[in-house]
Formats: sequence, structure tokens, C-alpha cells
Amino acid sequence: MATRTPPAPASAADTVAAHLLDAALRYAEDRHWDVVPGTWLTTVDGMPRCSCGHPACASPGAHPVDPGWAGLATGSTLTVRRLWSGQPLASVLLPTGRAFDALDVSEAAGCLALARLERLGVPLGPVLCTPTRRVVFFVLPGSASKFPARLRRLGRPPASIDLVVHAAGSHVVAPPTRVGSAGHTQWVREPTAENRWLPDAESLFNAMVYAVRASAGLDGGRRTLTPTPSWGRHQAGLTEVGVRGAVGGAGEFVRLR
Ligand SMILES: [Zn+2]
Repeated sequence: MATRTPPAPASAADTVAAHLLDAALRYAEDRHWDVVPGTWLTTVDGMPRCSCGHPACASPGAHPVDPGWAGLATGSTLTVRRLWSGQPLASVLLPTGRAFDALDVSEAAGCLALARLERLGVPLGPVLCTPTRRVVFFVLPGSASKFPARLRRLGRPPASIDLVVHAAGSHVVAPPTRVGSAGHTQWVREPTAENRWLPDAESLFNAMVYAVRASAGLDGGRRTLTPTPSWGRHQAGLTEVGVRGAVGGAGEFVRLR
């Protein structure tokens, strides 16, 4: 009687690849978001290194492969499977200005804004945090690009505010993409049926501007408090804020700084 050989355990790379493909498929299928594979991480002398080959890459393993990246973005699950079969470890990038825009602030400002918006009962879309300590709010496409003009009308030069608008031509790095040795991009508020309808950026404006200025000490608000906030603790109701880290992400976007 023949004996069956048990299947070999999946390698760590296989597991990572499975998670990346699963996430890309879910974004395309469940949310009808376009997705596009980005660069990936390789290991050089035991250290993670970006497939772009630049030793000083600003977003290792988590940026577009080439200038024509937007043309590859797809919402077809068949195409997603084909693209990731070519490079199973490719990062998952979501182009903005299509199904959503995104507002990208420091971790400290993001925690403050989130706590304030939740307290006020403002409907929110998905929110993610990056290992480079940025928090990214998903909003209606086309609505975020009004922020610069709104700031100017308030007499606040956009350049004075640490807030990045991701609109057409830009992208966000989606969970569970890993960024170098910094860690993984994670959902703070996962995409669910409840947050399928995205808020207009306008409804976040006041809380966002307050939080950005307060976290920078510009409005007499709190400066940074705790070096490492826990999103688990935040979600349990605590609202500690953390110090601002490096700006993550690359691409073409309107930087309001
Ligand atoms: Zn790179």
C-alpha cells in the first residue's frame, strides 16, 4: 500500500506571498479598488533591500516599479493573479484619485484627528498606518484636492501644514506590504461593508487641521507624548499619540508642508 508524503510546510516567503495576493484580490474584488504591484524586498547580507537596487531607497520594497506604473493598475482579479504570479512578493499599491483620495498625516496628528472625529461621530472610511509613522485616511475621490485652497482661505499657507494629499497620480501602500525593516503597513480601520461609502474630505477638514497643528505645537496643543503608541490600545479607547517619524511613500502627490 502506497504511503503519502505529507506536503512540505510553506516557506516564510510563500506565506508572505499568499498574504499579499490575498489582500490584492480582496481589494479588487470586495472594494472594486484598482491595485498595482510595486517593488519587493530581497535579502542582501541578511538585510532587506529594495528590488529597485538603490541602497538608500526611501521606501524599500514599497514603491512603483517604473513611471508607467499607473497603467498597470487593475481591478480584474484575473489580472491581479497574473501580475502577482510574475512576482509573488511584489508590494500592493493602491492608486489614488480613482476609487478614493487619501489624506496622509503624522502618527501624532492621525491619532488626535481620529480620536476627535470618532468622538464627534463623523463617518469615516478606512484608515491605515505605515511603519514610517504616518496615518492615512481614505476619502471620496476628488475631495482631498480642495484642501490647499481651503487652507489658503483660512490664511494658513499649505506649506505650513504637514499634510500630504494623495489624489490622481499618487498612490498609497496597502497592508500587508512590508516597508524595509521598518515593519508592515496595517489597517487602523479596516475596509468593511460599513465604511464602503467614503466621507468627503471636507468633513475631516477642521479636525485634521487642528490635529496637525496641535501635534506640531502650533495651536498651543499637545506636543508629542509617547514614543510608541499601540493601535490596539487606541482601538480599545485610549488615545495616546506618538512622535512623528520619517515621511513615508513616494510618488507624485501634492505635498502640503
Ligand atoms: Zn526602492
